[in-house]
Amino acid sequence: MNRRLLLAPKAPALLLATWLTVGVAGSALATPWAQVKAPSEGPTQAIGGVANGCIAGAQALPAEGEGYVSIRRYRNRFYGHADLLHLVRDLARAQARRGPGLVMIGDLSQPRGGLMSSSHRSHQNGLDVDIWFLRAPSAATANRDTAHQPDPPSMVSADGEGVSALWGDDQQTLLKAAAVDPRVDRIFVNAAIKRELCASDGDKAWLHKLRPWFGHDAHFHVRLRCPHDSSECKQQAAIPAGDGCDDELDWWFSAEARTPAKKSAAPIPTRPEPVTLAACQPLLSTH
Ligand SMILES: [Zn+2]
Repeated sequence: MNRRLLLAPKAPALLLATWLTVGVAGSALATPWAQVKAPSEGPTQAIGGVANGCIAGAQALPAEGEGYVSIRRYRNRFYGHADLLHLVRDLARAQARRGPGLVMIGDLSQPRGGLMSSSHRSHQNGLDVDIWFLRAPSAATANRDTAHQPDPPSMVSADGEGVSALWGDDQQTLLKAAAVDPRVDRIFVNAAIKRELCASDGDKAWLHKLRPWFGHDAHFHVRLRCPHDSSECKQQAAIPAGDGCDDELDWWFSAEARTPAKKSAAPIPTRPEPVTLAACQPLLSTH
């Protein structure tokens, strides 16, 4: 976990910006958004940005559906924009057609979005979802109910250089289906997984949306574009053109990126104070 908070001195500036939207908070934060138990009424609106926003009229992802099971419901983070729920259902149905097994769906957003007390800086405006790579044989065997169940296993080899023996067509098909979906803006995935895909033959255009990041070796993080119905949604800057199978990806395997001593010497970015957007205030004051 800690390595997510540490960036090498020469890390591209883009990484710092990305840290703010993907990086994992190391300790629990006091946030009023975690106290909100239910969505607001009215039409769905994603408001603000992924790391400083909220969602009005969020919809709840059902605990189970065709091809998927929603895990860790006790966290109450299974709410999102309708587009996000549709995407989850579409991906799960497509996987169900490939064979048995349920896609495990992790955190979306809190009932009205906003900052979470742990685990994520983003996931704030109902447009982010974590999807686990390994499908569960059944809902009963999914890692879904308690805080004590281990995470599903990693798809990355122990040395971090490549994929593990668990990686296969099922995982690649699921990831590609998400990446080629026009609703999807970007996907965060472990650099070793992206490198594996970059090394394969065939069309690489779909790799454009895959953003290498720390962790994300057992799940990937899907982020949607701002939906048309959400005029107050703040769209993130576009990712660079191309498939990203280049120097930027190579950096993740450099000594600079991977040497613990260097990482511990790197400056730790200061976490910004949580500030609730004016447009989000009504969602907090009316619950
Ligand atoms: Zn995530």
